[in-house]
Amino acid sequence: MHEMSIAQSMLEIVFEEAAKNGLSRVTRVEITVGKMSAVVPASLQFCFEILSKDSPAEGAALDIEELPIRGRCRTCGLEFDSDGFFFACPACRGNDVELVSGQELYIKEIEGE
Ligand SMILES: [Zn+2]
Repeated sequence: MHEMSIAQSMLEIVFEEAAKNGLSRVTRVEITVGKMSAVVPASLQFCFEILSKDSPAEGAALDIEELPIRGRCRTCGLEFDSDGFFFACPACRGNDVELVSGQELYIKEIEGE
């Protein structure tokens, strides 16, 4: 399950940031994931709960913001959402498309006390 290793490295960053900011308990973590990173929010939530047991982040709320896969056509300039399988411009059918969003995977905010 690739969510397990994501949750693991996420928590490492959370602990590092918590230590840096003098937090003894983490109450909320907000992360941003692009649909292209193929993270299943429910599994990530589950892995986060397991791995944060007996840690300062135990019981912390995990908010997952999902960003759509979005491309921009270099030929006509149109921006469009994609399902990730078909990546061609819906207007001019061109396939010179750059990725605008969808690959994100980062921690946006950490709250604690
Ligand atoms: Zn186009």
